[in-house]
Amino acid sequence: MKIIDGKAIAAQLRVRLKEDVDALKQKGIIPGLAVVLVGDDPASAVYVCNKERGCEEIGIRSKVYRLSADTTQQQLIALIRTLNADNSLHGILIQLPLPAHLDTLAVLREVNPDKDVDGLHVVTAGRLLVGEKGFIPCTPKGIIHLIKSTGIDIAGKSAVVVGRSNMVGKPVSLLLLSHNATVTMCHSRTQDLAQVCAGADILVAAIGRPEMITGAFIKPGAVVIDVGTTKVDGKLKGDVLFEQAAEKAAFLTPVPGGVGPMTITMLLENTIEAARIYG
Ligand code: NAP
Repeated sequence: MKIIDGKAIAAQLRVRLKEDVDALKQKGIIPGLAVVLVGDDPASAVYVCNKERGCEEIGIRSKVYRLSADTTQQQLIALIRTLNADNSLHGILIQLPLPAHLDTLAVLREVNPDKDVDGLHVVTAGRLLVGEKGFIPCTPKGIIHLIKSTGIDIAGKSAVVVGRSNMVGKPVSLLLLSHNATVTMCHSRTQDLAQVCAGADILVAAIGRPEMITGAFIKPGAVVIDVGTTKVDGKLKGDVLFEQAAEKAAFLTPVPGGVGPMTITMLLENTIEAARIYG
C-alpha cells in the first residue's frame, strides 16, 4: 500500500502557486481574498487561521472579517455586498458552519459567483452540474488531484462516494463523473453499504463517522480517499480505519495529512484563478 501524501503534494503545488502570484504581481495584480468568520466556533477559527497563513505563504493578500455570533442576516449580507464591490478582492469565502439563526444558502447566494472561490454558490454548483467553466469547490478539487497523483486512470473505474453534502459528496461525485468514472453515491439510507463500497476501485469517504469504513468495505487494490475529520479524545480521526484499510487498498490518504492540506491549497489556486480572470 502506498500512502497518498497530501501534505507533500500540497507543498509542491504551493511552490508553483507562489510563482503564479509573483507573475500576477509583475502585471500589477495582487490576488486578494476576503474570509468572513461569524461567531466563535473554535474549529472554524483554526481553519481561518490556516487559510490566512496559506495566503501569506504564497503572497496572496487576505483579509479576515471576524463578526460576532449575534450578527444578523442583514448585517452579513451588507458586508458581502461591500466585498463584492471591492475590486482589490478577487475571492470571498464565508466560513461554514454559520450560526443557526443565519440562512446559509441565502447568505452564500449573496457572494458574486465570479468571486466564489470556495465554489459553494448555487450558480457555481449549477456550472459544475452542466459542465460549464466555473470554480470547483476546494475539497472535491483537492480529492481529484490526490486520485490523479496515484497515476490511475479514473475513466471507466467504479467510484463510490459515501456522503452527499453540498460541500463534498455531491460535487466530488460530479467531478468523478466528469472524469468518466461510473459513480455510486451513498448516504445514511444506503443499504448494504459495505458491499457497495467493496465494489469500488475508487472509494471516497466523506461521512464524519470516525473509523466507520473497515477493511470489509474495501476492494483489494482500491484507491481510498478519507475526507473525514472528527476529533476523538483530542486526536483527529478519519472515516476510514487506517490499519485495516492499509492491508487492502493500493493507495490510501492519511488523516491528518491527506485531504486537509489540499483543501486550502485549492482555495489558493481558485483565488489566483479569479485574479487572473477578473484581475
Ligand atoms: P455532512 O454534511 O455532515 O454530510 C455527511 C454525509 O454522510 C451525509 O450525506 C450523510 O448522509 C452521510 N452519512 C452519515 N452517516 C452515515 C452512515 N452511517 N452511513 C452512510 N452515510 C452516512 O458532512 P460533510 O460536510 O460532507 O463532511 C464530511 C466529513 O468530512 C466530516 O468529517 C468533515 O469534517 C470532513 N471534511 C473535511 C474536509 C477537509 O478539508 N479535510 C473538508 C470538508 C469536510 P445523509 O445525507 O443521509 O444524512
